[in-house]
Amino acid sequence: MEAYAQRTKKRFGQHFLHDRGVITRMLDSLALQKTDRVVEIGPGSGALTLPLLQILPELHVVEIDRDVIAWWRSQTTLAGRLHIHAYDALKLDLSTLQDETHQALRIVGNLPYNISTPILFHLLSQAETIRDMLFMLQKEVVDRIIAEPDTKDYGRLSVMIQYYCDTNHVMDVGPGAFNPPPKVDSAVVYLRPWQKLPHAADHPEHFAQLVAKAFSQRRKTLRNTLKGMIQETQFKQLGIDPSRRAETLSVADFVNLANLSPTSN
Ligand code: SAH
Repeated sequence: MEAYAQRTKKRFGQHFLHDRGVITRMLDSLALQKTDRVVEIGPGSGALTLPLLQILPELHVVEIDRDVIAWWRSQTTLAGRLHIHAYDALKLDLSTLQDETHQALRIVGNLPYNISTPILFHLLSQAETIRDMLFMLQKEVVDRIIAEPDTKDYGRLSVMIQYYCDTNHVMDVGPGAFNPPPKVDSAVVYLRPWQKLPHAADHPEHFAQLVAKAFSQRRKTLRNTLKGMIQETQFKQLGIDPSRRAETLSVADFVNLANLSPTSN
């Protein structure tokens, strides 16, 4: 099979992974079974795709770049095994990638860093179709995903992802593992949607709005940021001091606040 020969494109966040050690560890951490239904976001020139196809009889890939898509389509030896979805991952409806058994999907990818957060939110909105996810991301984003309350990295992203998923940091990866090397450090994170949410919001959208509002001004107190949403008596009811800041609250605290406060609809 001939190597992909086009130049990498900045606008698609293309940094192709070439470090064998990193690729092996990513695959090992997945412990794939042949029967798994796996979707790769952004296969690029195949750093993860080809090793995945050595284990899996079939693989689904979602790719936006016409040149990359055309090159994969020309790989006739993979016909019938590699299912190419020429699609924007931000618009992807995961249920269209499931078969009639509705087996939950395993999603992997070295994501385009410029849109990784919107992709994560888009996937979380379909968490019920996902078994687990393994992603290469900007390290700073992984630090925020796994952050605990009362740390500088803890924020909206931590609360929203941890609401839906169990999170695990797999490894840090330096710029030299990619071609061309990105300007930032990277890290691999493993996300597994909870089978049953540890703390369920009555209205998930309302919960998301409350979390966004609470963190909209990090330095301000909850009394200020949640004005109009949460009354003093409600803070008291939950034993949450309204002079605290959002970064001191656990996911459970946010869910409790959301479940107490009236929804706008
Ligand atoms: N997995 C490869 C490539 C990673 S680079 C490797 O590790 O080497 C990111 C990949 O995501 C590229 O293939 C890029 O074209 C693709 N991509 C960028 N934006 C996308 C989008 N919105 N939807 C789907 N794929 C996208």
